[in-house]
Amino acid sequence: MRIAVLGTGQLARMMALAGMPMGVEFCFVKSPGEDSRCVDHLGDVVEATDDSHVADLYEQLGRPDVVTTEKEGVDVAFYEQFAQHCDVSPPSKAVWISQNRLREKTFLNDSGVPTAAFAPANRLDEISGLASELGYPVIVKTQENGYDGKGQWWLDSDADAAAMAKVNGVEDSGPWLLEKVVPFKKEVSVVAARTQSGAVAAYPLAENVHRNGILLTSISPVADLDEALASEVKGHITRIMNALNYVGVLSMECFVTEDGVVANELAPRVHNSGHWTQNAMPVGQFEQHVRAVFDLPLSVTPVSGVAGMLNLLGVKANAGDVLQTGQHLHWYGKEVRPGRKVGHINVTADDRITLEATLKQLQAALYS
Ligand code: AMP
Repeated sequence: MRIAVLGTGQLARMMALAGMPMGVEFCFVKSPGEDSRCVDHLGDVVEATDDSHVADLYEQLGRPDVVTTEKEGVDVAFYEQFAQHCDVSPPSKAVWISQNRLREKTFLNDSGVPTAAFAPANRLDEISGLASELGYPVIVKTQENGYDGKGQWWLDSDADAAAMAKVNGVEDSGPWLLEKVVPFKKEVSVVAARTQSGAVAAYPLAENVHRNGILLTSISPVADLDEALASEVKGHITRIMNALNYVGVLSMECFVTEDGVVANELAPRVHNSGHWTQNAMPVGQFEQHVRAVFDLPLSVTPVSGVAGMLNLLGVKANAGDVLQTGQHLHWYGKEVRPGRKVGHINVTADDRITLEATLKQLQAALYS
């Protein structure tokens, strides 16, 4: 069994670290200039340039059984071409949908999944009119290439819309999507998997806290979450996966409001908010993805206790300092730069109070 992963980052690394014990071989496709330090020594790394032919790459990669991706920012036409040689999981359509916020929100609504009210804008001078129609406050997001909170403007009034139009370089960042601000109580996510035979398994939801638009902590199960609401979210992701004939792990980020749940974003891959599964579940999300693409049985067992994750954003953690009982360090082997995701610490505990106290202590010690 051999998998080629598009991308050479930490998600590719953790997929390989989870799949190798099952005898799965890994190889990786990198773009010119992409740092492959995370996956060096875990399998062959083949560079794809604009001139590369997929048939040649397939041979250089050692004829993998499956091509998958660790990121949504791939050239979909390129990804799709591998289907002439082997399985391509997740399907390219799912990747294509997730690359554009307008496509994604339209697809979610068409699949019966509620989202924030939204409106597309192609020109800057349309924004204040559309925002008034939606009702302030709104968030304006670039339709493509925005991630981790980048390419977003919060507007409370027409004056903010006018100020946004004057920001340096903003005119080149369109088209945009306006979204009505959702007054959420919590941000949660669900990570689920579907096999080729159509078996589906979803992990318990996690509650996520972001710092400067980047995920900082996840905790699962979510405190005080209505069971019916959790089932609704799992129902949504199952419907989406079935509609797309999806194979692999899919993640969905949602807002919990007074009136129910609305979806914000899909990620056609393993997700940072699912890292806690590595140490809290017999089969974590990375192994689950490998199982799904090879049509092996999925596994989700009830969580005993509470699990959490703290991202290491530009901060180094030493194993000696953090490996207390119930703590697990995952270091990606990257150079530490300000704000960069360089690792995470998973924590498990019997109860929520202990877990939250441990996460707080770690955060205070590492981010002081
Ligand atoms: P995104 O890039 O869509 O994941 O947004 C980054 C973060 O901005 C989210 O995790 C939320 O905290 C916030 N956000 C995005 N969209 C909305 C919205 N429509 N209403 C309220 N907050 C939002």
